[in-house]
Amino acid sequence: MTITSEEQRVTLVEAGRRLAQVLAALRTKIAPGVSTEDLDDLAEAQIRDGGDEPCFLGYTPDGAVRPYPATLCVSINDEVVHGIPNESPKILKEGDIVSLDLGLTHNGIIVDAAITVPVGVVDAESTKLMRATEEALAAGIKVAKAGVNLGNVSHAIQDVVERAGFKVVRDLGGHGVGERVHEEPFIANFGRVGEGPELKEGMVLALEPISTAGKAAVVLASDGYTYRTKDGSRSAHFEHTILIEKAGACIVTEL
Ligand code: MG
Repeated sequence: MTITSEEQRVTLVEAGRRLAQVLAALRTKIAPGVSTEDLDDLAEAQIRDGGDEPCFLGYTPDGAVRPYPATLCVSINDEVVHGIPNESPKILKEGDIVSLDLGLTHNGIIVDAAITVPVGVVDAESTKLMRATEEALAAGIKVAKAGVNLGNVSHAIQDVVERAGFKVVRDLGGHGVGERVHEEPFIANFGRVGEGPELKEGMVLALEPISTAGKAAVVLASDGYTYRTKDGSRSAHFEHTILIEKAGACIVTEL
């Protein structure tokens, strides 16, 4: 969506603050022995307690054969995105890395964010993968502002991930957000400076670098949602909803 009034801007920022709070609460729960279903229950309860709605629950993305059955996406290790936490729930183990992807609707405005979190002590490569992916998100946000081509953002993300020795997943990426969960434009995590549409003041975008420690290829599981790396390598994922402004981008899903 494009924000056109101060009232909408205030609502967007409040939506982002609320989502960031729920994600921060979930982060504190991540430990060996925790069930993915319990994380999903907690996410849904916190969102509803705030008077808001989970926006992934019941949402059917383009091409999906059924509505998404949970509030939260929980993707562990070689699961890339859209892991379902409440159908055959999993128990987190020491050394896992787990991506938590969450969206909510506050007063009609949708925001979307994700973090990847270590479960206890994790190996050095996983730590490096998570750090590079989070830094790639920061790099993408840093170049995002009105008048810049979308390709500049995509390129900034790709550059950080690849310099760290990792790959970006080509089949998945960021998107416009605000009125619907997924809006135009699709935001690839690779690209060229000067290419793609020009960013405009007021645009609401979800940037989400998705990277792997091995090859970039992903496969979709038979549940219709869970993407895994084809080679079994680990994947990391960080996401913020941002608002494009004249001089830069406002990160709305950050506390
Ligand atoms: Mg997203």
